[in-house]
Amino acid sequence: MHFKNDLAFAQELDRQDPLRGYREQFIFPQHDGKPVLYLCGNSLGLQPVTVRQALLDELDQWATYGVEGHFRGERPWMHYHKQLTQQACSVVGALPHEVVVMNTLTVNLHLMMVSFYRPTKQRYKIIMEAGAFPSDQYAMETQVRWHGFDPADAIVEIAPRPGEDTLRTEDILATIEREGAQTALVMFGGVNYYTGQFYDLDAITRAGHAAGAYVGFDLAHAAGNVPLHLHEWGPDFAVWCSYKYMNSSPGGPSGMFVHERHANNPEIPRFAGWWGHDEQQRFLMRKGFKPMHGAEGWQLSNAQILSFAAHRASLDMFEKAGINNLREKSLKLTGYLEFLLDEVNPSGQRFRIITPRNPAERGCQLSLLTDNNGKALFDKLTAQGVIADWREPNVIRVAPVPLYNSFEEMWRFVEMLK
Ligand SMILES: *Cc1c(COP(=O)(O)O)cnc(C)c1O
Repeated sequence: MHFKNDLAFAQELDRQDPLRGYREQFIFPQHDGKPVLYLCGNSLGLQPVTVRQALLDELDQWATYGVEGHFRGERPWMHYHKQLTQQACSVVGALPHEVVVMNTLTVNLHLMMVSFYRPTKQRYKIIMEAGAFPSDQYAMETQVRWHGFDPADAIVEIAPRPGEDTLRTEDILATIEREGAQTALVMFGGVNYYTGQFYDLDAITRAGHAAGAYVGFDLAHAAGNVPLHLHEWGPDFAVWCSYKYMNSSPGGPSGMFVHERHANNPEIPRFAGWWGHDEQQRFLMRKGFKPMHGAEGWQLSNAQILSFAAHRASLDMFEKAGINNLREKSLKLTGYLEFLLDEVNPSGQRFRIITPRNPAERGCQLSLLTDNNGKALFDKLTAQGVIADWREPNVIRVAPVPLYNSFEEMWRFVEMLK
């Protein structure tokens, strides 16, 4: 598409945008009496207007029925998590028995590693991207130690080549091939939080399995951002959170995927709780854990109703908008932002976009690597009502979100930057 750097052009793109109505479904924080320029959906999505009522409904349910709310009313709490499954599946491209919503992301990552990181003397390594999100780094490090191995030896990190910002798929695959015989788990992010790179999850899965390892993904920055086909790609597990691109409230629930090849295998070791036990027999309170079929067999606890209610309200919107439509707008919106950034910074002397230039290798986020004045620039933007985020040592991340950001906002943002 041929873009133009002018306001009328941006406004015309908004007029043609079939998803433009969704913006009104969100509550924008205010700055000087106007909505902020919110470019931070990669960190915490905005509040959908429907969430308040969804929460009030559950408080009413509690007030009306007390403990009987588990069985009565429109959405009994007893099976509440099941109402989220189908919609969560559409977001990540999975079958219903492969997905469950529960806990929070890092908790689920550990639970999955209990099942799928079972190192032996010969096979104990974890292959991951260098510079993964800290929670993932700490999870890997402590899991490795827990099994009595040394992280310095057991964790193989893949870094960009000197002078490059992002990973080459060929380097990822070559590392998996080289270390394969000693590798227990290939664990990758979907979209890297810092660079915004969207990895080739299909290729990584195939390489990991060819090497005889398990493959897991952390999709915190991918879920609700890029199209995912987890069932088809076939990793053993994946985890994600719902409060970034999925706008499901601060600290909102995580989703977890276990591929169906593991659905009927009660022998897989796991840390269990009563909510993962065969639901026909859950209330017989008997000894002997018998996992439910599929991902539900990894549940520990009964549902956190209030945060699940917020998630449900938000997932309804994803279903209506459609993940493919969102991606289509996202490609255009981020493409427009990229075009404008290049216009005001043609030789890259003030900042450099380190996110891949190929739209297929990124989601909506662009990461701007700044010079030494980066923090001052970021603070200036903030003072003018831009909410983006700063990541040490010197990156400004901006994430135009197709559900609530507009083309006009991209133009205004780059005018300010100029
Ligand atoms: C945001 C994020 C997390 C956060 O984990 P929580 O357990 O939800 O606090 C973990 N990993 C990645 C890759 C993230 O982007």
